[in-house]
Amino acid sequence: MLPVKEALSIILAEVRPLESETVDTLSALGRVLAEDITAARPNPPWDNSAMDGYALRSEDARQASKDSPAALRVIYDLPAGSTPRGPVNKGEAVRIMTGAPVPDGADAVVMVEKTEARGETVLVFEAIRPGANVRKSGEDFASGDMVIREGTVIRPAEVLMLATTGKAAVCVKKRPVAAVLSTGDELVDIETVPSPGKITNSNGYGLCALVKDSGAEAVNLGIAPDTRQGLMDKLTEAVKYDCIITSGGVSVGDYDFVKDVLKEMGSEMRFWKVAMKPGKPLAFGVIGGRPAFGLPGNPISSMVAFEQFVRPALLKMAGRKDIYRRTFPAILTAPIKKKPGRVNFLRGSLTITDEGFLVKPLEGQGSGMISTMVQANAFIIAPEGVSALEEGEVVHVQPFDATVLQAVTPGY
Ligand code: AMP
Ligand code: MG
Repeated sequence: MLPVKEALSIILAEVRPLESETVDTLSALGRVLAEDITAARPNPPWDNSAMDGYALRSEDARQASKDSPAALRVIYDLPAGSTPRGPVNKGEAVRIMTGAPVPDGADAVVMVEKTEARGETVLVFEAIRPGANVRKSGEDFASGDMVIREGTVIRPAEVLMLATTGKAAVCVKKRPVAAVLSTGDELVDIETVPSPGKITNSNGYGLCALVKDSGAEAVNLGIAPDTRQGLMDKLTEAVKYDCIITSGGVSVGDYDFVKDVLKEMGSEMRFWKVAMKPGKPLAFGVIGGRPAFGLPGNPISSMVAFEQFVRPALLKMAGRKDIYRRTFPAILTAPIKKKPGRVNFLRGSLTITDEGFLVKPLEGQGSGMISTMVQANAFIIAPEGVSALEEGEVVHVQPFDATVLQAVTPGY
């Protein structure tokens, strides 16, 4: 049996990042930046006020205090969005709003709460140092600064930065479009009530959801029958997309034709028994430069195989470098028994506590047990060689969604 890591590295060696496209800045959220972003202007663009108050020359109020305020002549009002009407000379002040440009001559702003207006005069009750409450031009970034590098994943912070630099559209890596095909004569579509012997095509939905959850686009091609011709027809459609994902028909059953048909279609097919549980049978090939994954039919097997092999491949195609789920140690809250020889990806419920990460292995680890997948938020990675893990032992976990980082109370 092929070790999981080897299967993964063979797969990833065949997968390349897609080309780039230009999209509007908000649509770039979650995508990988395909250009360096250099600021065409500084931020802030000019020295501006951090407070509502009075712009003044700090030397005029250096000694000011509650008992001995400085009295300055207010020469005009300066709201945000306006430009100064003239410089501030000795003994003068300008009523200024947050964000307005600091007039020439002024080098500080006193907040309005520390002043009192008396007609044309303002009294300043606080000692002012040079630069007080002034945001300096370029203190965030200067014109010509590289503010985001190519390869960065665009988060809300990057969108904010792009907007600040005036970038309305941006060059990003394309998102892969993956076709999902479910094979099996037993399958009926979700709208059909299954007759005896039939089951609903769960995997088509589960795998499309996983594709979307990976930031890629999913095309559900529905069900292909367990015949060579039927598979051929559907796979001919599937190979038009960036990535081909099938479920079922890859084991050693009499009707498991997926790998044969993909081979007939010109794919250099590899078929492995991967040393993992669930998800042992796996077919992988490349058709016209596009990766094709033949995942096992059992719903949990297909999900686990997707998580370990397809998701990293889709992220690589999308230009990501951080393509793996982070794994980390957690304390096991119940024992686990397993057979040595295969890595087990056990469904677990992971919680973050003040004592650290705790993970509970769930009852019902069969590859058709969808209810435990629903309760789980992480895989417990039980290594190939071991046959038992004890309660209290430290194991590695691989959370597969962000719910573990969410809470029902704010925590502060
Ligand atoms: P196979 O790998 O085709 O032999 O399928 C293994 C098991 O997974 C069988 O019990 C199938 O009925 C089940 N199965 C295959 N495809 C699907 C699917 N799309 N949705 C739900 N169960 C499936
Ligand atoms: Mg089948």
